[in-house]
Order: sequence, then C-alpha cells, then structure tokens
Amino acid sequence: ATTRKRLVMGNWKMHGSLAANAKLLDGICAGVAAVHNSDIAVCVPFPYLAQARDNLRGTGVSWGAQDVSVHEQGAYTGEVSAAMLNDFACQWVLVGHSERRSLHAETDEQVAGKALAALKADITPVVCVGETLEEQQSGRTTEVIARQLAPVLALGADRVAGLVLAYEPVWAIGTGLTATPEQAQAVHAFIRGRLAELGAPQVRVLYGGSVKASNAGSLFAMEDIDGALVGGASLVAEEFLRIAAA
Ligand code: PEP
Repeated sequence: ATTRKRLVMGNWKMHGSLAANAKLLDGICAGVAAVHNSDIAVCVPFPYLAQARDNLRGTGVSWGAQDVSVHEQGAYTGEVSAAMLNDFACQWVLVGHSERRSLHAETDEQVAGKALAALKADITPVVCVGETLEEQQSGRTTEVIARQLAPVLALGADRVAGLVLAYEPVWAIGTGLTATPEQAQAVHAFIRGRLAELGAPQVRVLYGGSVKASNAGSLFAMEDIDGALVGGASLVAEEFLRIAAA
C-alpha cells in the first residue's frame, strides 16, 4: 500500500537442529526467486547463525538473531554482543520480543538499550511491542504501546529511522488468534503517527501474531502494515514463502 518495501521475517524461537534447519533453509532458498516485492529474513537461535550465514549468503534471504546484549563486552555470562552478531554477518536482531519481556523481565528501557547497541553495530533492530489480553480488554492498548515506544523514540529520529518496529499483540502470539486487519491497522496507524511526529515516518512496522498464508494478504492490504514477523508458520518453508508472496 506504500513505498515502504514489505519485510517478512521468520522468528524460529527455540526450534530447530542442524539437520532440520538445512532442510528448511533449502526450502526457503528454492522458492525465494518467485517472491517479489518482499524482503525475506529469518531470525535463528544463536548456535545456528553460522549455518544461516553459510546457507543463505548470496541467496537474497537475510538472517539475524533473536536477542542481543545491551553491553559491548565483559562479565555477562550467557550474553551475546552486537559485535559477535556482526561476526556472523547478521543484518537483523529482534529486541523486546514479548517472550523476552515476560519470561526474562526485560524492561522498556533495556529494550531501547538493546536497540541502540544493535544500531551502533550497524545491525537493524526489530523492536517488538504489544499489549497483553488483559491490557487489551481494559482498553489500554495504545497506552501500553506508547509506554513501550517511549524510550525507543527517545533515541531520536536519526536512530529510529534505522530500525524496524513489530506490533505483536501478546494475545495473538502462538494462540491461533489473529488481530483483525482493522484492529491491527488501528494500532499501526497510532504507531505511524508517533513515528511521523518524531520525523521518521518511513520506518517499517510489521505485524506479528499467528500470521499464516491464509490471513497475510488481508493484513498486508492495510495502509500501515509493512510486513510480518512470523513464528510458527516460519518453520514450514512453503507456508513461509506463501506469506511472503501474499
Ligand atoms: C512471534 O513469535 O513473533 C510470533 C508472531 O509467533 P506466531 O506467529 O507463532 O504467533
């Protein structure tokens, strides 16, 4: 619907194995030539970044990680820095996925810090925001999104212009419940408004939450939905490609 190029990104979460990934990546590569008008990317578990790089280099499919440390280096056992992601030629990194926010207590400020760490390393952060079912049902969706966005927008227009946002209502992630295109568009329009106020109106805003081939087309038809962040359906090459082509 716009001049912003569509981006369809798979989030593998903690799924995969060397053998299963090889098949999945082969399947994606085999079909990617038939997908026009869409950037395609996969965010894989850290141990598989080398495999993603080796299998995807030169194919037109890009790759990234699912988290990054806010710190540059040091005594942070278990953490992975943006520079380390650079060593594996990551183009993308998810930050603030709802599972990181809820299971690992990541705060809005930490998420913004992670986005900044990625930007400084020339990796595009895909900053995830979204309200819970309870927040939605009590009419607090835009209030929650505004709160989550605040420290990210405080990075300033130049920084924000270099990132991607993903609106993922928590109640729609992995539940089979998708926001209707109109529900999603309303939140995307709100986010677009904040981006425009800041002076970064061209930032891509992806939708995520039980996206599949059967509902992707109607979501992508919305003015402010610039693509999708796809969990479960990104683990099946044909389905993932059908979403990208929708
Ligand atoms: C996600 O984890 O980002 C996601 C949207 O998952 P699913 O597509 O499985 O709902």
